[in-house]
Amino acid sequence: MASLATRLQRREDIAHGTMAFHFDKPAGFRFKAGQAIDLILPDLAGGASGSDRHAFSIVSAPHESDLVVATRMRDSTFKNALAGLPIGGLAQVDGPFGSLTLHRKPNRAAVFIAGGIGITPFISMLRHASRNAPDQRLVLLYSNRRPEDTAFLTELQRLEGDNRNFRLVATMTRMVESSLLWMGRAGPIDEDLLKRVAEDLPDPIYYVAGPPSMVTALCDALERAGVDADDIRSEAFHGY
Ligand SMILES: Cc1cc2nc3c(=O)[nH]c(=O)nc-3n(C[C@H](O)[C@H](O)[C@H](O)COP(=O)(O)OP(=O)(O)OC[C@H]3O[C@@H](n4cnc5c(N)ncnc54)[C@H](O)[C@@H]3O)c2cc1C
Repeated sequence: MASLATRLQRREDIAHGTMAFHFDKPAGFRFKAGQAIDLILPDLAGGASGSDRHAFSIVSAPHESDLVVATRMRDSTFKNALAGLPIGGLAQVDGPFGSLTLHRKPNRAAVFIAGGIGITPFISMLRHASRNAPDQRLVLLYSNRRPEDTAFLTELQRLEGDNRNFRLVATMTRMVESSLLWMGRAGPIDEDLLKRVAEDLPDPIYYVAGPPSMVTALCDALERAGVDADDIRSEAFHGY
């Protein structure tokens, strides 16, 4: 896979300790909503094997002009270098790769289940579907500690208002640590919630993304809720 050169256009805070990075989309770069890239920072080349690259799901939708990734910022070599990349600074992308893409049977619903930063592939899929598959039934179960940590919350609420076939179920697990008002759901995504959201959905396929421990727990909960393993697709963000 040949690497393509790109430049950083801008960066933005999208939640507590969480940033989105907008890069130029290289000419001819094509991807499906939900796929990922390896982002390579040339200044880190020559370090420990693989330390100059990280995998990120693409947040932007295929029809958008930028190539956007989002991440929880941590004190790691890669993320410190990413945070320090100047506007206009060079990077490279390898990809796209990954098969966490929306199924092509519009008569079957999709239930997206995101833990924290696991929202990234689903934002791209939701932006894409709202434009290209407005009749498909979509539900997003999105778990965060607090509203402050919840990336893209305002956009998701707007998408729900714009698309009558999309339902957002955001839930907070540590409201006691929040200084914001939250009138929505609190508590973890459990079997009971998984069963209830599926009640009126046509033959749903489930998509799970986030830190590995959360993905494992949610896939287990889905199976306990009676979902066939063939109808569960997942992506674990190793490194969290
Ligand atoms: C398909 C895919 C999509 C992803 N999308 C996103 C995204 O949209 N946003 C996001 O923030 N992160 C995403 N990740 C995770 C991302 O690539 C980083 O691993 C993560 O952000 C942690 O990076 P770090 O620099 O904070 O930690 P690091 O310093 O890189 O790693 C922390 C610890 O995790 C271990 N580790 C790192 N990578 C792996 C691995 N592949 N397997 C096992 N152990 C590993 C390291 O050895 C280290 O102990 C994705 C991962 C994959 C595979």
